[in-house]
Amino acid sequence: MKLYMPSRILFEQEALEYPIGQNIQDFAQKNNIPYRMIPAHNRVTGLPGETAQQKYSQAKKTLVVGLKKDLRFQSCRPSADYQFPLMTSCPGHCEYCYLQTTLGQRPYLRVYVNIEELLKEAAAYTHKQSPSITTFEIASSGDPLSIEHLTGSLARTITFFGQLPQGRLRFVTKFTYVDSLLPLEHNGHCRFRFSLNSDKVVQQFEHRTPSVQERIEAAVKVAKAGYPLGFIIAPIMVYPGWYEDYGRVIEELEKGLDKVKTFSVPLSFELIQHRFTSKAKKSDTREISPESLRSRRKKA
Ligand code: SF4
Repeated sequence: MKLYMPSRILFEQEALEYPIGQNIQDFAQKNNIPYRMIPAHNRVTGLPGETAQQKYSQAKKTLVVGLKKDLRFQSCRPSADYQFPLMTSCPGHCEYCYLQTTLGQRPYLRVYVNIEELLKEAAAYTHKQSPSITTFEIASSGDPLSIEHLTGSLARTITFFGQLPQGRLRFVTKFTYVDSLLPLEHNGHCRFRFSLNSDKVVQQFEHRTPSVQERIEAAVKVAKAGYPLGFIIAPIMVYPGWYEDYGRVIEELEKGLDKVKTFSVPLSFELIQHRFTSKAKKSDTREISPESLRSRRKKA
């Protein structure tokens, strides 16, 4: 799958004082991506699109570059001790994504440039709880791997945590841009968890994400690099033929893992059903993505 390329980039003024902000500006100039300054991320206006679907789609093609002002970390129970946000949203258009309800009017991608301040704060949280291990989840508000080629934030965070004896990272992803992360000195302190589903569910609901096969190939590379690894099959959907389809996913996974069976990589598996947030239960179910509409029309 091709690397994500935003159609426009919006910078908060202070963002250009940080190396990540400057690098993204260079990237925009080299790739002729239009960019402009904005006073604050909650003042993003004038994105193209008439209908709600068009606006949502254009927001996903918009990258906002700014600072994380509140350096306090939210709890992330039960999967980790704290959330560690490097960014919000992601280029994918999964129809069931909980971010559709939690990000409300702001589904655009947003990256934080003040990563060194965030890392310093994470180290302080970790030292406070030492000698216990403190775990941070980096994907609670988006998929950081999806834009790693633009920020390099994930690599910096993994390397930093590699040197923190009591700090651990984890994140879940559907994306596959892992190559730049393979040579890092992670010391086993970061667990990648790849989200999988049946081919049918991926094709029908997980728009603009890599195929299951590509995700398994990326997982094999990660395992060979010695990272702790996990798989999440979620959300499990029951439809005619679901049992056989999910069986095929397990078989594909088995074939992939067979290639790394000589490596001693800690593995985890999670099987999860969809959980409707209270906002999702109340949302207007008539608002469906253009891709879904097209695929439903084809079947009709
Ligand atoms: S890849 Fe994950 S974060 Fe992105 S839209 Fe799909 S479910 Fe949401």
